[in-house]
Amino acid sequence: MAKTVVVGSIAFDAIETPFEKTDKIIGGAGTYICFASAYFSNPHAVAVVGGDFPKEYIAKLQNAGVSVEGIQVKSDEKTFFWSGKYLDNMNQRETLVTELNVLEHFDPIIPDSYQGVEYVILGNLSPVVQRQVIERLKKKPKLIVMDTMNFWMDIMLDELKKTISMVDVITINDDEARQLSGEYSIPVAAQKIMEMGPQYVIIKKGEHGALLFHKKEIFYAPAMPLYSVIDPTGAGDTFAGGFAGYLAQQDKTDFETMKKALVVASAMASFTCEKMGTAGIESLSDEQIEERINAFKTLTAYS
Ligand code: AMP
Repeated sequence: MAKTVVVGSIAFDAIETPFEKTDKIIGGAGTYICFASAYFSNPHAVAVVGGDFPKEYIAKLQNAGVSVEGIQVKSDEKTFFWSGKYLDNMNQRETLVTELNVLEHFDPIIPDSYQGVEYVILGNLSPVVQRQVIERLKKKPKLIVMDTMNFWMDIMLDELKKTISMVDVITINDDEARQLSGEYSIPVAAQKIMEMGPQYVIIKKGEHGALLFHKKEIFYAPAMPLYSVIDPTGAGDTFAGGFAGYLAQQDKTDFETMKKALVVASAMASFTCEKMGTAGIESLSDEQIEERINAFKTLTAYS
């Protein structure tokens, strides 16, 4: 089976939507990426949790097909905690709390068994840690996909730009693309970000879909219109996991394959939105995934 290396937060999240409020539940960018990419590849997780993190949950990741040797447990420390609140339109979110805890001094370990893996997903995490992962891989991967967020633009823009210069694909949402590039037009922002290094830029627009840019080419994948959106947390991470997992499975990195990967990514992200936390992405059947991917064809095909 195709392999991926996934680095990202494994976290406790507390989520507030107009309809529901959770206590601490399991989340984290790395968690969502691992679940999503595990449907297409064998993700090799690189992460750190505190002694308060339930062991059963690591076993759950393992049961989903994730290699967990690279997950460090710091028994005297606390797991990363993030809390967010959705506004009434469910498309905008406010971060209420970010407690880095164990992530503050995260020194990623790449076990020997992870070396040689050719598809790498750098989930939303400090750009310094993302770069350390790249530097600790002995062989240059075929494809490095990176996700990031405004938090890192606000506090370490120079470090972020250094990491961006080392990756092949960046996924970023529209507001963040504008912030990073200083441009309002999305295609102009994408061009500016490509000038920073990545050959491919994916700009996510939440419920309005995602755009893939490469040189002067543009491809658009809509988001699946959902009858019920319960919790969009992790949709962006799920998207990145589905995208890179699919490319690893196909072992292709050309623009045509990336178009299909964008649809796969959108399909996977839609599952995450339908349930609270990771519940929507934890246990899908191949049939459910195939059906959702096919639904994208009928959504946009016309004669
Ligand atoms: P998304 O909805 O795709 O933006 O991802 C939300 C997930 O990202 C949550 O599960 C959080 O735990 C995680 N997250 C939020 N902020 C950070 C951060 N600064 N560093 C690492 N992970 C984060």
